[in-house]
Amino acid sequence: MKIILLQGDITKMEVDAIVNAANTSLLGGGGVDGAIHRAGGPAILEACRKIRDRQGRCAPGEAVITTAGNLPARFVIHTVGPVWNKGNDEEKQVLRNAYLNSLDLAVKNGVQTIAFPNISTGVYRFPKDVAAAIAVAAVKEFMSQDDRITHLIFVCFEKENYDIYSGLLSQN
Ligand code: ADP
Repeated sequence: MKIILLQGDITKMEVDAIVNAANTSLLGGGGVDGAIHRAGGPAILEACRKIRDRQGRCAPGEAVITTAGNLPARFVIHTVGPVWNKGNDEEKQVLRNAYLNSLDLAVKNGVQTIAFPNISTGVYRFPKDVAAAIAVAAVKEFMSQDDRITHLIFVCFEKENYDIYSGLLSQN
């Protein structure tokens, strides 16, 4: 699996799946969630509503998959990151689970190329360096055990996150 780092807008990515940093309601929000629903159109919200009706809210660390509507991607994988509170181990574990469960759901749906935003580093206030270290460790662990994803792209909206990832990914 190839890990690629980009700075930009995840809604523009031509990949099998983009990951959304959703909230437990699955019914849209601000940040990257708002951008994905705006650009993808109503089909995504409709699919999210059906999932809500079937299984209720999406717990932090879990993931669900929908159409990508009008986006160039095929699927949106909606995962819910943790809200940073005191930075305890549980919050870190939940963030790790958000990455691992998204990847798991991706491979179950035949996804080979996937793009991730910097989950929890916006409104959910996770320190960017801590979140990036967890993200990189989780995806590397996944790829060491499963080779079905061929390309994984970290899409950083902000330069600060891009620089942090750039440092982490050049370490080996
Ligand atoms: P969370 O609630 O998980 O913190 P946010 O959407 O507030 O989610 O922020 C998560 C990350 O997504 C932030 O780093 C933010 O800069 C980034 N982001 C916002 N819009 C986009 C976009 N269009 N493409 C990629 N990343 C985005």
